[in-house]
Amino acid sequence: MCFTISTTTTHTYTHHHTTHHITHHTHQKQGGRPKAAAAAAAIQAIFPAASTTAVDLTIPMPGHALTTDEEPTALTAAADLEALIVDHDAVFLLTDTREARWLPTMLAAKHNTLAITAGLAFDTFVVVRHGVPNTTPRLGCYFCNDVVAPQDSTRDRSLDQQCTVTRPGLAFAAAAVAGELCVNVVQHPMGVRAPHVGDSGGDALGAVPHMVRYVFVWRGGGGEG
Ligand SMILES: [Zn+2]
Repeated sequence: MCFTISTTTTHTYTHHHTTHHITHHTHQKQGGRPKAAAAAAAIQAIFPAASTTAVDLTIPMPGHALTTDEEPTALTAAADLEALIVDHDAVFLLTDTREARWLPTMLAAKHNTLAITAGLAFDTFVVVRHGVPNTTPRLGCYFCNDVVAPQDSTRDRSLDQQCTVTRPGLAFAAAAVAGELCVNVVQHPMGVRAPHVGDSGGDALGAVPHMVRYVFVWRGGGGEG
């Protein structure tokens, strides 16, 4: 399997939650190395036969206006992103914001590439695989149930509302589910067109759900008596 891990300074493509774990220690030791490069090296340390490539790019995002000077760079980034999506079997959309997932969502649908999103809330998360066109029933994507279009979700937000670094335990759990879901989909005879759980029969690894949602319920400990 080939991994391309792509990051930017503030927005990360294909990795954020997952590579946060594998970059954290390495990153600190190496004093500010880009996350993608640190993650690519860390994956090879874990599994030397893996082929990993780090790519730094800034994903153009709805709600984040560009100046005229920035347009050529954004167009190049979009073209690079599309080439990566064409070249890969699966894309994990694990960026910091909803809007950073919009362009890769569109491109993955365009090229029938499996896209899996993991989104973290404070004590919940969702992992969803995106449907592709010309499939019946066509499964929805991360944005299908939105009541508003993607927009700048970083303005006027406190740190705990912006960044998954405040939920590192949840990130581990979501990353594990996303990885398992990918394996289930690629083992299904219909691959990215596999129907959702309940209609999935015939796959080697059991059901292939469309989305997995976790809600953690915190209960106070006893200590009475
Ligand atoms: Zn959709």
